[in-house]
Amino acid sequence: MPALNDPFALQDAQLLRHQPFVNGQWMTGDGPALVVDNPATGVRLGEVGTLTPSSVNAAIDAAQAALPGWKAMTARERSARMERWHDLILEHSDDLARIMTLEQGKPLSEARGEILYGASFAKWFAEEGRRAVGEIIPPPQRNRRLLVLREPIGVCAAITPWNFPCAMIVRKTAPALAAGCPILLKPAESTPFSALALAELSQRAGIPPGVFNVVLGNPPDIGKTFAAHPAIRKLSFTGSTRTGRILLAQSAEQIQKVTMELGGNAPFIVFEDADFDAAVEGAIAAKFRNAGQVCIAVNRILVHETLFGRFTERFAARAAALKVGNGLDPDTDIGPLINTAAVERITTLLAEAKTEGAKIHTGGQTHKLGGLYFEPTVITQISQQSRLWREEIFGPVVTILPFRDEAEALRLANATEYGLASYFYSRDLGRLFRVAEGLQFGMVGVNTPVISSDCAPFGGIKASGFGREGSSHGIDDYLESKTVWIGGI
Ligand code: ADP
Repeated sequence: MPALNDPFALQDAQLLRHQPFVNGQWMTGDGPALVVDNPATGVRLGEVGTLTPSSVNAAIDAAQAALPGWKAMTARERSARMERWHDLILEHSDDLARIMTLEQGKPLSEARGEILYGASFAKWFAEEGRRAVGEIIPPPQRNRRLLVLREPIGVCAAITPWNFPCAMIVRKTAPALAAGCPILLKPAESTPFSALALAELSQRAGIPPGVFNVVLGNPPDIGKTFAAHPAIRKLSFTGSTRTGRILLAQSAEQIQKVTMELGGNAPFIVFEDADFDAAVEGAIAAKFRNAGQVCIAVNRILVHETLFGRFTERFAARAAALKVGNGLDPDTDIGPLINTAAVERITTLLAEAKTEGAKIHTGGQTHKLGGLYFEPTVITQISQQSRLWREEIFGPVVTILPFRDEAEALRLANATEYGLASYFYSRDLGRLFRVAEGLQFGMVGVNTPVISSDCAPFGGIKASGFGREGSSHGIDDYLESKTVWIGGI
């Protein structure tokens, strides 16, 4: 039984780990301890040990030592372990969801959904690993033969954010493992417990020591250590464009292959022929899940001028009715923001927009619950110079703007340096193709706010980065092609 004062109160207490996990061992940290607080209450959840750069280097060496054994296994042997990992994640989904809500704040129902979504990548890539087939190419001369082998790229590193503390980890780790690569993961500082629980389950699933490692410590130091070590052949990052630029520059040192899933500034276009009710509900879902702290969250809603007044009124009323509260409360729609800096940033962006003439329809300030809670906020009359229009908001705030015709909608939607997700609602078949092709984004949701799945490529263009995760393409980044010419046949 969990202790009465234990906020986690897990069915399986062994999932709660407080140490980095390297080479199959829970390490005594040699760096300053990391403090983790519950964003819903401010109450301290615990401390986690961290590693200094020299210990991270030793962890990379251990992963390198684990490479030959993991690579030599058959795809079927690796796949069996990954399937077990998937099953264990599902078996412990209640505990994993509770850990996530406590350290991240999202509603428990969303946390459960994320565990299922995250686990799906372990299964998908367990299957894809068995299909990482090479090629035999018709040779240009009769006495030669030409083969392409697909081999694991080597030791990989992943740096993940706090907004999806399980899914981002499995989405990066699973294709690496399936390809035959050991991986070192540095999760976000606010959400280490979810990452460590996944490591515990990987060990129970029979993933060998050194193949899946979780390192924690000073983020810039770890980023530099990954970049400087010649064994790291691939870095996959999800986070801000600002950090992505730093990591991308650093990857030049050892010519590492990189995947960058960076910020977004998603438009959501409602055309005059849209299913109005579906568009309102789609926009609510695509804006407010995870309190808007999602890289594919809607930032800017563009509504045809004939629907603008009606849409704004209905959308603002729906937003105002969302229940803000502790994610453990089953009625909660919107949990707290992740930290004080997030609340301050949104407050500043809104204050700037107001001085630039924006009108607030609902919300606009911190919620009466106090702490890190913020009201769902809907604004109009935004200046396109405003930072709230140009930058990723990452909170429960959205702007609505009218447009005249399809060309103007596309121009406004594309007027951003970002290119991750976009959405539009229309029932006109010709428009459906024209607009889907005209949007300069890596992903387009047409008449749906749900645009991520294990079977679909996920990723962006422009300042939102490059590379695709998930789908049959997701394993490619973790494989190298080796061309073999055979002469004298
Ligand atoms: P956010 O501002 O939303 O937290 P970040 O890009 O700062 O987004 O964080 C995403 C991940 O990148 C986190 O795991 C964080 O610790 C890590 N990170 C931040 N700065 C650096 C850096 N200079 N080098 C390596 N990792 C970093």
